[in-house]
Amino acid sequence: MFKIIRVFVLLLIFCGIALGTWREKTRSVEWKITLPVNIYLINGDGSPAVTEYIRNLNVNNFMPVETFMRDEATRYDRAASASIEIKLKGIIDSQPPEPPVAGNVVQVIFWSLNMRWWAFHNTDSNGYSPQVKIFLQYFDPSQIKRLGHSTGLQKGLIGRVKVFASQYMANQNNVVITHEFLHTLGATDKYDPATNQPLYPEGYANPELQPVVPQRFAEIMAGRISLSQAEAVIPDSLNEVLIGSKTANEINWL
Ligand SMILES: [Zn+2]
Repeated sequence: MFKIIRVFVLLLIFCGIALGTWREKTRSVEWKITLPVNIYLINGDGSPAVTEYIRNLNVNNFMPVETFMRDEATRYDRAASASIEIKLKGIIDSQPPEPPVAGNVVQVIFWSLNMRWWAFHNTDSNGYSPQVKIFLQYFDPSQIKRLGHSTGLQKGLIGRVKVFASQYMANQNNVVITHEFLHTLGATDKYDPATNQPLYPEGYANPELQPVVPQRFAEIMAGRISLSQAEAVIPDSLNEVLIGSKTANEINWL
C-alpha cells in the first residue's frame, strides 16, 4: 500500500513539474507582455583579464539584442509587447554544468534537469510570469581560439552561452546570444550541422531573392550569410541578421 502511495505522490510531483514547464513554455511566446530576459555574467576561464572585462560591462552592451527583437517584431506587424527587455543581473561565481559529449537521451535529460537545478540555485526566484535566464560564460581570446558549444533550453527558458571577452567580438557575441535566446523560445537550428551551411529555404533571410545567392543577411537560426552554394560567412553584427518566416512561426509571431 505504501509503495502505491509513494508512486502516486511521485507521479503527482512529476505531473506538476511537467505542467509547470508546459505553461512556462506556452506563456513565454504569448507576447501579451514584454518578456524579461535576464543576463548573468560568468568568468569562464577564471583569468584576471576576463574578470576585468566583465566588471566593465553594462546593460548597454546587450541593447542591440533588445533592439533587434523589437525591430523584427515590428517587421512582422507584431505589437510592441511582442518584444523583450534585457536586464543585466550581475556576476555569478559558479560554472553551469557542461552537457554530455555525444550523450544518450538519459544523459541529456539528466543534464537538462541538473542545469535547471543549477539555474534555480544560483539566481533569484522569478515570480510567476515567465522570464528567460541567459548565462554568459566569458573566455579570454588570447588563451583559447575556439569556444565550446552553447545551448538554449526551452524547458526552463535557460541559455548557456560561451563568448569571447573582447570588445572587438562584442557585436558577434550578441548574434550568438540572440540565437541561443531564440532556442529557449522553441526556435530550431536552420543549418546543416555537417557543413555549417544554411539550409534552403528556411535558413535564408531572403529565400525569394533572384539569384538566391549571395544573400545580404543571415537568418538568425542559420547563423551565417550564404554567399554561394558552398560558402557562408558569420555576420559581424545583428545589423546583418533577420528572423526568417519559419523562426517567426516557431516563436508564435505568425
Ligand atoms: Zn542553435
